[in-house]
Amino acid sequence: MHWQILIGMLLGIIFGLLMASVENGKDIVQDWVDPFGKIFVNLLKLIAVPLIVASLIKGISDLKDISKFRNMGLRTVVIYVTTTVFAITIGLATVNIAKPGADVSQATVEKLKSEYSANKSVQDKIKNATSQKEKGPLQFVVDMVPDNALKAMSNNKMMLQVIVFTIFLGISLLLIGEKQAQPLKNFFDSLNEVVLKMVDLIMLFAPFAVFALLATVVVTADDPEILWALSKYAGVVVFGLFLMIIFYMIFVVLYAKKNPIWFLSKLSPAQLLAFSTSSSAATLPVTMERVEEHIGVDKEVSSFVLPVGATINMDGTSLYQAVAAVFIMQVLWPEGLTFSNQLTIVLTALMASIGSAAVPGAGMVMLVIVLDTIGFPPDLLPIGLALIFAIDRPLDMCRTVINVTGDATVSTVVAKSLGKLGTPKRKDWDDHYDEVK
Ligand code: ASP
Repeated sequence: MHWQILIGMLLGIIFGLLMASVENGKDIVQDWVDPFGKIFVNLLKLIAVPLIVASLIKGISDLKDISKFRNMGLRTVVIYVTTTVFAITIGLATVNIAKPGADVSQATVEKLKSEYSANKSVQDKIKNATSQKEKGPLQFVVDMVPDNALKAMSNNKMMLQVIVFTIFLGISLLLIGEKQAQPLKNFFDSLNEVVLKMVDLIMLFAPFAVFALLATVVVTADDPEILWALSKYAGVVVFGLFLMIIFYMIFVVLYAKKNPIWFLSKLSPAQLLAFSTSSSAATLPVTMERVEEHIGVDKEVSSFVLPVGATINMDGTSLYQAVAAVFIMQVLWPEGLTFSNQLTIVLTALMASIGSAAVPGAGMVMLVIVLDTIGFPPDLLPIGLALIFAIDRPLDMCRTVINVTGDATVSTVVAKSLGKLGTPKRKDWDDHYDEVK
């Protein structure tokens, strides 16, 4: 599977480059190729909510003891916070050592400023961040509790509300006793199997979809000259993200006692999709399928750890936020680069990664909040974002891979620590095809 996806990606890039060089090529790709990528992402998002609900209920109702759930919840949150703080520290260390901001000439700053600071997307990100900032400190807890379960389920951005409702439902189901709970349990068991089968079926389409997604990214990419001017900054982000992979693999070897190459090859279809879609929420169904059926994490663990991780654990995003914040300061506001401001970045980037939505470009919105908290001059904000905007999409693709890998690693480690890491039982889309052919 991962080879087919890789070939699809490669052909998509080549096709995108070819089309970018012909007249009207960009329009042709946007009109005739991009829709197939969108359909694929929509299909993945379509099954995310049913999958979370069905698998979380199955996971909880299989528990023999609720205290186990509390134990798992606590462990998950502690490990998620630890890995995120580590990611931010790596980001800060690399950007302070490499100093990518020192190499950006005044001419480049002017060019980026004139091209992007009035850009609608940059302005929207600042507006979006301002409205988030105006909320009270406990608003995020209030936002986690839905007042209407169906409304929460009808909006992919309210994943945390869906998780809270489902945990509540699952625990109540446990408390009504085995006999009464059975019909609902059977229903969700069966729904869970159906949705996982849908993942298998959607994945048949993945190699073509990544072709479409990458061809679109390439034809809509910015001027290569601008991208080149930002290459040192991009290099620092990518290097930091690479260090995170090594960090995860150390965890996999030491705690989960698994071969890291085996782990990465099992997870790779999810990573490749994270790269192609730039959305950990859209990738979630595939991450769940890979972690459960190919790595062997028990559903009791993966059904909780992965959806929670997709919404609150974004190591790649927080590392990027630390690097981007310091890079922008190196160029525009070097006097703000104090030790205490960098410490504040650790805290705010941690909160920001929890608050970032698992969708393309979300990390940049929260970056505005990080910068604002350390007192970055507001009039320089549009210029700051303009500096990193051109290269944001490729970096978003890379950081999403890390976000997904982090969630998968933590779920494996938590499963191991609870004795819930077993032999994977792989299922294919056509396991029962003969019976209905
Ligand atoms: N695209 C990222 C994700 O979905 C979030 C971000 O960093 O913008 O995980």
